[in-house]
Parts: sequence; structure tokens; C-alpha cells
Amino acid sequence: MQEIFLLKLGEIVLKGQNRFTFENRLKQNIKRRMRPFGEFKVYIVQSTVYVEPENEECDIEGAWEACHAIFGIASICRCRPCEKTMDAIFEAVMAYLSEELANQVSFKVESKRADKAFPMTSIAISQEIGGRIAEAFPSLAVDVHNPGYTVNVEIRDFAAYVHGPAEPGAGGLPTGVGGRAAVLLSGGIDSPVAGYMIAKRGVELECIHFFSYPYTSERAKEKVLELARLVAKYCGRMSVDVVGFTEIQEAIRDNCPEEYFTIIMRRFMMRIAQRIAKDHGCGCLVTGENLGQVASQTMEAMAVTSSVVEMPIFYPLIGMDKEEIVAIARRIGTMETSILPYEDCCTVFTPKHPKTKPSLGAVLAAESKLDVEGLIERAIANTELVKVRYYDGV
Ligand code: ATP
Ligand code: MG
Repeated sequence: MQEIFLLKLGEIVLKGQNRFTFENRLKQNIKRRMRPFGEFKVYIVQSTVYVEPENEECDIEGAWEACHAIFGIASICRCRPCEKTMDAIFEAVMAYLSEELANQVSFKVESKRADKAFPMTSIAISQEIGGRIAEAFPSLAVDVHNPGYTVNVEIRDFAAYVHGPAEPGAGGLPTGVGGRAAVLLSGGIDSPVAGYMIAKRGVELECIHFFSYPYTSERAKEKVLELARLVAKYCGRMSVDVVGFTEIQEAIRDNCPEEYFTIIMRRFMMRIAQRIAKDHGCGCLVTGENLGQVASQTMEAMAVTSSVVEMPIFYPLIGMDKEEIVAIARRIGTMETSILPYEDCCTVFTPKHPKTKPSLGAVLAAESKLDVEGLIERAIANTELVKVRYYDGV
């Protein structure tokens, strides 16, 4: 076996009694994520997940890329297993890390001894291997405080492992340990990030999108489905409920005072989302709302909007600045799609002077001409369910 991955568990280790359930779930998630890349053996020992290719056909690069997007993992590294002897470890370092070492000015060796029966201490292992590396690369200086490169040696139960610096994992908790949430997904920057953040806490996602054809185009819908697909990279396959919203928006336009268009529309979104969420077994709604960003996201407007549902609504972006949200969107890969210039139903019939501090009484009066129940039922009946997945077969 030339190369395997070691994935170090994140917060999962704090979970006491539930640990076994969490680890099992994580193992299942990893097995599923590796499936498109060939046959991998996945097992967990001492807070570390071992991911081992079973044969030469495995797509190691694809699998490695996929490992970056698995929640519940704090850090990941590719390593070379070898026998637990100094000679074998040194040989593995030379075969596996020579190229990196040759380009460095300084290095150190850091060793961990998970197998306490191993006769040398970690300091002794580092000194021995470090000495041999320094001899093999005379221009390379040992620098234990500020090394250009760190060679890691881990002595574990079945083998020793050598690797370079670890990379950060996706963090969070394993998908599926925290229940299921329904994300109101628009084509903007915020809601995919909001979905990602809740998913990171171990929550499975369903998406709901309100679609106002022909005011919003088929391409706008495709864009939203693409955003859902990009988020599915992290949380696994999802379904997107695309709700026909045109009749509701036209009814609002024709029957309600303009300054309340947006807030009434948002109340419809929430009512419909709650019903769909319940049908899918979701325990909460998630939106990308952000305090003060637009007129419908003031404290007063959000109170009026949320008063139509009893299910908890989570707003993971509520206190963030736009720059912080954009930084996450870039990191998770949704930004480029979010800024494609297609319209969203929120921008159809936008009032010139929306109420920023609506009162519930005034909104109820403004809504009173509408057949709320009939509109909701017809919209739900006019829903298309689309399945999205990032990796084939996952
Ligand atoms: P985003 O960037 O996510 O579109 P935004 O800042 O543009 O958010 P709004 O358009 O006011 O804000 O929408 C607030 C939230 O309402 C969105 O983050 C999203 O969760 C939900 N939302 C808006 N439009 C839709 C839609 N067409 N379908 C589903 N949810 C929507
Ligand atoms: Mg929007």
C-alpha cells in the first residue's frame, strides 16, 4: 500500500455517550463519499479515520479532494504506511517526502506514539529520523521552532505512518447526527452560505425555492439548482422543492398596498416552507437573512415574517458582515454561481418604498383581501421536486 489518508476527528470526540453513534455515522458518510473513487477500506481507531485504497484502480486525487468536504473531520493528511522500525520509517520518508524536503531550507520531525508499547519515546524517534534526514540532505537545517517543513511520524497499532503537514478538514459534525433542516434557497449569495453553515453542524438539508415563471426565467431556476448541487458537495444529496410562486405574487400585486408587497410575500414563503418542511421531516427552517441588510430584514420586519410559523427559524448569517459572508461563499465555491446575473422572485414587483418597520396589525389588514389558504394549497400542488447530487453515486 503506497498511500493512505488519515482523517483526524473533530469535535465529535467531545460527545461522550454519543460518540459511538457519531463515529458510526461518520464512517458511513465517508464510505459513501469514497464510493465514486473506487474501493476504500474505512475504519476508525483512536480518534483517527483510516481511509485505505483497496487496489490500484482507486482515484486517489478525486478521493483526497472529496475528503476536504466531509463534516466531522478536523484535519486530514495523506501518508505512507510502513513497518514500525527506524529503517523502514526513514526509507518511507526518503521515498515519499524527498521532493518536498529537497526544496526546503529547514525542517523538523514531529513524532507521535499512539502505540505505547513501542520502545522509543516520540522525542527519541524525532531525533533519530531527524538526524538521518539531515545527513541525507546536507543543505537542510534542523529548526525545531520555525521549520520550513515538518515531517510527521506516527507510530500506530498496525503500522507507522509518515506524512508532511496536515491540511484543515471541513470541521463541524458528521452529516446526519443533528436532524434535518429546510433551507429557503434563493439565487443570491447568502442562502447557500446559510445552508452550508447549518449543514456543518451535522444537519441534513432539504431546499425550497420559490419560482415565479415567467417573471423569473428557467435559467434563474437552473442557477438555484446549481447552487444546491454545490452545497451538496458538503452535505450529500439533497432534494429541492421548486414551488410555483407566480400566482401568489400576482395576487399580492393586485390586492395589497405596495409598501407591503415584500413582507407579505415573505410571509407566504414562510408558511409554505413550513408545510413542506414538515412533510420532509425537517425540524427547522433556515434563511440567509442578515440584520439590517434590506428593508425586510429589520428586527420589526423579521418579527412580522416569522410570526406565521411555529417551527424554529435559524438565521446563521444574522450578525455577519457581507464581507464575511462573501469570504465563506468563495471558500465553499458558491460565489461565482451566486453572482450570475439572473433575477430572483424577490426582485419582481419590488416596492419603491418598502416599510422597514411594519406593524403586524397593518400587515394583517393589507393581507386581508387574499385567499391565503387557497393560494398556499395551489402553490404547494404546483411544486416540482428535483434531486441534486455533487458526486455521482453518492
Ligand atoms: P440571498 O442572497 O440568499 O438571496 P438576500 O440578501 O438577497 O438573500 P432576500 O432576497 O431578502 O435577501 O431574501 C432573504 C432570504 O429569504 C434568503 O436568504 C433566502 O433564504 C430566502 N429567499 C429569498 N428569495 C427566495 C426564493 N426565491 N426562494 C427561496 N427562498 C428565498
Ligand atoms: Mg435574494
